[in-house]
Formats: sequence, C-alpha cells, structure tokens
Amino acid sequence: METLLLTPNEENLLLAANALQDGQLVGLPTETVYGLGADALNEAAVRAIFAAKGRPADNPLIVHVPSIQAAESLCHIDDRSRRVMEYFCPGPLTLLLPKKPIVPEVVNAGLPSVAIRIPSHPVARRLLELSGVPVAAPSANTSGKPSPTTAQHVMDDLCGKLHSIIDGGCCQVGLESTVIDMTREVPTVLRPGGITPDMLLSVLDEVAVADSVLRPLKEGEKALSPGMLYKHYAPKGTLTLIKGSEQAVQQLMKKLYAEALQQQKTVQLFAFSEHLPAYEGCNVKCIGSLKEPETVARQLFAVLRQADAEGVDVLFSEVLPAKGVGLAVMNRLSRAAGFRTIDADREG
Ligand code: AMP
Ligand code: MG
Repeated sequence: METLLLTPNEENLLLAANALQDGQLVGLPTETVYGLGADALNEAAVRAIFAAKGRPADNPLIVHVPSIQAAESLCHIDDRSRRVMEYFCPGPLTLLLPKKPIVPEVVNAGLPSVAIRIPSHPVARRLLELSGVPVAAPSANTSGKPSPTTAQHVMDDLCGKLHSIIDGGCCQVGLESTVIDMTREVPTVLRPGGITPDMLLSVLDEVAVADSVLRPLKEGEKALSPGMLYKHYAPKGTLTLIKGSEQAVQQLMKKLYAEALQQQKTVQLFAFSEHLPAYEGCNVKCIGSLKEPETVARQLFAVLRQADAEGVDVLFSEVLPAKGVGLAVMNRLSRAAGFRTIDADREG
C-alpha cells in the first residue's frame, strides 16, 4: 500500500476521515505524540492497528473522541470523572472508565474499563468531527520503539502499512498522555504525562501514583496497566542513566565516554543545556533545560530516534528530579534504559 503524506487542509482531512470510515488506518498528529488511528467500533480495523505496530493483543488501546458527549456512548461517566473531564479535556489526559458493551473487546483487551481521551490538537479534533467515529489510536510507532513526535517518525516506522499520515508538525507535549484509572476508589495515575498528579489534585480530593511508574515490575507482580509490562521507548544502543551530584555525574559521564571510545564504540552523551560546557569535546546531545522539564519531554523521543539514525552503540544520560513533568520524563527515560542506572556518588 502506498502511504500518503498529507498536509492538514480540509480536503485532505476529508480524505483521511473517509479512510477511517472505510476501516483503514490513518496516522494523526495530537498534542502528545502521533497516533495510529482506526474506527474503534470496527473490529477488523482495530486488529489492523495491532498488526501494523506488532503490538501484543493484551495491551489495550486508547479511544479518542471529540467531546464528553461523544464519550458517553462508550463508557459510564460518574460525577467525579465528569469533573476531571470538564477541567482537563480537551487535553493530554486519558481516563480509564467503565466500558459499555458497544466497545469491541479487541479495543480494551477484554478488560472491564476502556481508556478515553479527548485530544486538543486542532487537526485531531477536525478529523474526529469529520469522520464521526470514535478513533482507537495507540502511538504510531513500531511496538517497543520510541513514540513518534513528527510525521517523518511515523513514515520511518510504518510506511506502507497505513492509508495516510497527516503532517501536523512537531507534537507540543512530546510524551504520551497521562493515564488515570478512574475506576478505583482512589484515582490512580498509571502512566505519568503532561497532566501531573499535582494538577489533578485541583479537582480530585486524592490521587495515587502507581509505584511501578519508576521501577520494573517485580517477579509475579500484576501490571495495573498492561503497557507497563513491555520494554518501551528503547533506542538500539545501550542507554545508561547517571544520577548523583552534579560534579560527580559530569566526571563519571566523561570517564564512561572515554572508556567507550577506547573500546571503539560509537558513544553519545545526553545532557541538559545548562551543563553542555562541561562536556566540551564530547559527542553530546542537548535534551532540553533542567529548569524546564517540558522542554525535555518535547524532544526526548526525537533525540532517542536520532541516536539510532546515527548508529550510536552506547549512550549515557543525565537525569532530572521525578517531579511535575519530570516524573513523566523519568518514567520514559528509565524504561528506555531498561532501568540501568549508576549512582555517580557511590561510584566515585
Ligand atoms: P498507547 O496507546 O501506546 O499510548 O498506550 C496506552 C496505554 O494505556 C498502555 O500503557 C495501556 O496498557 C494503557 N491502557 C489502555 N486501556 C487500558 C485499560 N482499560 N486498563 C489499563 N490500562 C489501559
Ligand atoms: Mg505507545
């Protein structure tokens, strides 16, 4: 199949909307990452998403709708969830809500809940309006790879496997949506994102954060969110995170860099803009500002993909505090590193 790369004008959006109604797959920009969309009520179309991504069938999809009203046909919304939706939607938040029978089981892997999101990106919204169908859409990458934040990333992974990709430029948030399970007595964040637990507390009395957000699952531990089971966001090279006091981190990063060079490896350092001068002479990539974790969120996946394109074998990265959006950044970075972390203060 030839995959069309479309600029987001009305004519092209109509073309893509028709393709969705037809049961085909469309790559669409959202404020978080690019999605691989299909009509959520069309079982065959939803199966095609899993096939195109190589996604395990037990990892449920998020269903995108334009409004709370549209969500109501798919799930039950109590007063507490409605409050959250009215405050944060449209936006980078996904709510797990009790599912109605109309949603095919293939969408939510047979679980009692369905994941619902109302995106704010104008292109995604127009496409949802024009198609008139709820759109199941996971990130538009090959399963396991860093999520796509540009149309080119989607092309690189999935060209030939979908009808079209709508090019909406770079994604503003850059990390996948916050996932909150509203079916629990205490609403629980299963995946951190642009909407932080503190922000959620402005409309909820209590918010829990699944403690597996920053660590691997223990043996035999059941994943609250099936997506947490899988290796994720990983570059081809081996990434290791270096934590500790600023000076110790910089010293160790440079030492490990020199050792990797000696072993004839292609090596790259990931550092915050504030620390770049410390790595002069090294192959160093800026991953944003330590003071503004949003800037790291926005470019993290692109930087990981670029390291792949440059054939980097070994990567070492600075880390930031797991607070605010920093929690989402550290969740993705830890998984990309397979939780490999060195404490520079202990090493020294
Ligand atoms: P993605 O589609 O790649 O953004 O991933 C969606 C995430 O939401 C994955 O981690 C899923 O496991 C999680 N998810 C979606 N629906 C459910 C559900 N009904 N229960 C638990 N987790 C879910
Ligand atoms: Mg994904």
